[in-house]
Amino acid sequence: MAAKTYRTRALVLKKAKLGEKDLIVTLLSEDGSLIRAVAKGARKPGGSHAARAELFTPLAALLAEGRSLDVLCEARREQGVASVELSLEQSACCAAVAELITLVAQEGLAQRRLYELARASFDALGGSDGAAALLLCAAALWKVTAQAGFRPALDSCAVCGASLQGAGKQREVPFSALEGGALCDGCRNRPDAAPQDGTVLAWCSYVLGARYADIAAQPDPSAATALISLLQSWTSVHMGRRLKSIDFLFSPGLFQD
Ligand SMILES: [Zn+2]
Repeated sequence: MAAKTYRTRALVLKKAKLGEKDLIVTLLSEDGSLIRAVAKGARKPGGSHAARAELFTPLAALLAEGRSLDVLCEARREQGVASVELSLEQSACCAAVAELITLVAQEGLAQRRLYELARASFDALGGSDGAAALLLCAAALWKVTAQAGFRPALDSCAVCGASLQGAGKQREVPFSALEGGALCDGCRNRPDAAPQDGTVLAWCSYVLGARYADIAAQPDPSAATALISLLQSWTSVHMGRRLKSIDFLFSPGLFQD
């Protein structure tokens, strides 16, 4: 019996070698679910249709359902980021966002807004200059985290709900990833609470709500670095692991002088 086929738009999040000639591609489908598929012959000289599956690039894909993995039969590039045109910095930023999306998306679970967010994030990173890329990356990571249901409490205490309006002007605000965000003074004695720079929390609140075009207009590398470090400890607690591609962003010589 012929395998059932289906068409979808998708973004390529990851590629891994399979045997001599094939690839396993991890795709974010346009309904926001994750698809893992084999691209047969994608590594052969001359390649196949599926060889056109470029990282972070939107595809119109034809897939055949398989028992464990589906098979990527055809892939046609759509308008959007082209991974071959990305700088090393842009590519490292896209990889960090892609790794986080791979963690929060699930096979068979539709999250349509996640696809739209992923596509907008890769477009923003692909169109950014060096100075803005890291802050856009920080913004994309926090937006994906919030979309996945892990938005930190920033305007009110994560424990008692007391308003923290104006806390951004304070030098330090108690923050606990375990409790779910910023804390008021009365709740500051929580096991993992530590003082966090109020300016960084104000940036976090800003990037969660702002559009990429506005964020790109005011690059701030030190805010970006602090936001990404905060995200790394946040995802360690809430998603159970550190993201390797985020560690890579801090490699000597990449963004640091
Ligand atoms: Zn409180």
